[in-house]
Amino acid sequence: MYDIIVVGAGPAGSSAARVAAKAGLDVLILEKETFPRYKPCGGALSERAISLLDFPLPENLCERTITGARVHYGDIVLERNKGYRLSTLVTRSRFDQFLLQKAQEIGAERVVQKVQEYKEKENHVEVLTKLEVFTSPLLASVGLGEEEAMKRGIAAIIHKRKTSDWYSNSRVGIKHSGYKILTDEQSGKIIGAHLLGYNADETINLFGPCNPGRHEAR
Ligand SMILES: Cc1cc2nc3c(=O)[nH]c(=O)nc-3n(C[C@H](O)[C@H](O)[C@H](O)COP(=O)(O)OP(=O)(O)OC[C@H]3O[C@@H](n4cnc5c(N)ncnc54)[C@H](O)[C@@H]3O)c2cc1C
Repeated sequence: MYDIIVVGAGPAGSSAARVAAKAGLDVLILEKETFPRYKPCGGALSERAISLLDFPLPENLCERTITGARVHYGDIVLERNKGYRLSTLVTRSRFDQFLLQKAQEIGAERVVQKVQEYKEKENHVEVLTKLEVFTSPLLASVGLGEEEAMKRGIAAIIHKRKTSDWYSNSRVGIKHSGYKILTDEQSGKIIGAHLLGYNADETINLFGPCNPGRHEAR
């Protein structure tokens, strides 16, 4: 289960992931490119940007030190040298790879997948990639949903309940959790199960036989 899903492992994403992981949160980074990846950028890091890192920038990443500037305008040339470091030049592919490693060393997990869409649901967020649906808290489903049952002309009885007051969820601080079970009105058989909350990915296996062809959980 992830507390936070960060999309993109650029400097913003990796830094946010590191801060969150340091605060004890379970973090997933979804990045569409395999690192190190080329990034079109001048690579000039300001002193302020460097001061925001909570670790020293390794010497081997610092390729040039900028202490001044020369500006050409027609025949006019303006030059000013401050005599102290104004910024540092890095190659982004190496710099970004390093920041990602710094997030991963604290525990952030990285998966190479392109995010296609995210949906804000009533009590959780779904982040969709081509291969998977990531949610926080965990969402696991087997069998039919209400809409699908209706489309197939199956009269379903819906059993649903919030479970955030259950010990299994409250002990790990999950505020939003619940279940929805669909049973066939005629036969009484379970035709769909949808669980949101702690251990949903395990518990859903109990409902496996109701329609093994369709499930996803992460
Ligand atoms: C030509 C140029 C020169 C520049 N020079 C400088 C400079 O000298 N100094 C400076 O400070 N700034 C410079 N910038 C700006 C700097 O590059 C950006 O501010 C910086 O890269 C933003 O960082 P970021 O982490 O927000 O995004 P990015 O660095 O763009 O990272 C975003 C990441 O998200 C990933 N991603 C995107 N969409 C998805 C998706 N759907 N699913 C999964 N992953 C996804 C991308 O692959 C990428 O790795 C320059 C920019 C340009 C274009």
